[in-house]
Amino acid sequence: MTILDLPIELLNQLIVTYLNGLDLHRLAKTCSALKYILTDDAIWHRLAAERKGYDVRPETMTWKQVFYTEARCEHLFDINRSVLQDRILAYLEAMKSPKTLKCTNSNCEIGLPDLWLCLSKGCTSIGCGRTKQKHAFEHYTYGRPHCLTIKINTLEIWCYICKEWIGSLDAHPLERAKASHILSCIKSASSHPTHPLPLLTTDISLNDRRQKERKMYIFGKKDPLCFVAEGWLDEWKEFLIGNAGPPGEIDNGGLVDGRGKFRGNARPNLDYGFMAEGAYDQLVEAYGGGPKLSETELTEEHHGFLIQMIKTWRTPFASEDDPN
Ligand SMILES: [Zn+2]
Ligand SMILES: [Zn+2]
Ligand SMILES: [Zn+2]
Repeated sequence: MTILDLPIELLNQLIVTYLNGLDLHRLAKTCSALKYILTDDAIWHRLAAERKGYDVRPETMTWKQVFYTEARCEHLFDINRSVLQDRILAYLEAMKSPKTLKCTNSNCEIGLPDLWLCLSKGCTSIGCGRTKQKHAFEHYTYGRPHCLTIKINTLEIWCYICKEWIGSLDAHPLERAKASHILSCIKSASSHPTHPLPLLTTDISLNDRRQKERKMYIFGKKDPLCFVAEGWLDEWKEFLIGNAGPPGEIDNGGLVDGRGKFRGNARPNLDYGFMAEGAYDQLVEAYGGGPKLSETELTEEHHGFLIQMIKTWRTPFASEDDPN
């Protein structure tokens, strides 16, 4: 009797239990019967689920491809079915009275929207965000490895170890599939008639837009800078983090002098912030407003200090560019 005389279920079980990815690859090359078995994606489904905890498959991938994928956030796959169930119950319990929902730190009264539910099994922590008293972050630093947390009002997932929003538009399809599976489980559980969650609907609908705009907030090494009223930037940042809806038009009116030029006495970080021109142009397209205040229009006479400051800020970028 050879291994191939075993019943197929037992053979599958042996493969799933004992062989690693490389062994499978080698075996399939040397044995046509095993090669045949391994053409069945069901065996790869079991391998992906049992070995790696990959229990979802994006439509664009086979289970074999899923098995050989290395997810960016491995922590996400610690949330298996039973952890998810446990978290959904905690979530629904917490959301029964969203008006009184607040940070579980005993000295904190902060409520929605900046509240984060820890996704680790059996944990009941709900912490306020970093724009408030940072109790969610504190919980992570004391409670490792409780690294995954979900923003209650937008249902977006953050990993403290990966330092990333998880499952966003540009993430790996496997990560997106897993995150949207978690999301849809929570949504379908929370749409139950006895647990209506009215706060969630509008915030979730803006998640794609948030994710796109988060990626925009970058500085090119050489792009000219544009200046934007700090008040507007603050509102925009609140939108990006999911604490508020999108801001209105960009209003740089307070930054210009009588000549319609950038005021020389406007204060960086208090009256205005800056960003790459490309990002500014995209924001104007999305929000409207202005006027555009670009670095290219600065003059030594009116903006000597700012010109010097930008030069200093650019120095590390320049040395990255020119190592010699
Ligand atoms: Zn992670
Ligand atoms: Zn926790
Ligand atoms: Zn708090």
